[in-house]
Amino acid sequence: MANRHERRRAAKLFTEKMSVQEFISLPSMCAWAGCGKTIESPDSEGWSKMLLYKGKTQPDIRHIHPADMQRDCVLCPEHSRHLDENLMIDIGGRLRVFAGTA
Ligand SMILES: [Zn+2]
Repeated sequence: MANRHERRRAAKLFTEKMSVQEFISLPSMCAWAGCGKTIESPDSEGWSKMLLYKGKTQPDIRHIHPADMQRDCVLCPEHSRHLDENLMIDIGGRLRVFAGTA
C-alpha cells in the first residue's frame, strides 16, 4: 500500500496549457449558478456577455486593465432576461428585443 506522500502525489492534479485560440473555441457555459446551459458560440442569438470591472469608468472596454476585470462571462437568454428584469434598473431596455415597425 502506498504511503500518504505517494497517495498525495498520485492525486495531484496536472495543469495543461492551451492557446488563447483553443480557449476561445471551447463551448461557453451560462455563468448563472446552477444553470449549466452551454452553447458552441456565445454570439448566438439571445446570449449576452457581461463584464464586471472595478476602477475608473471606461467608455471604451479596450482600456480596462485585465487586473480590474472581476467577471467576464456569458448568460443564456433566460438568465439575461432574468438579470435585466430583476437586477438592473430600467435603462431603456438594452437587453430587450423590440419588433421593428419602421
Ligand atoms: Zn442560464
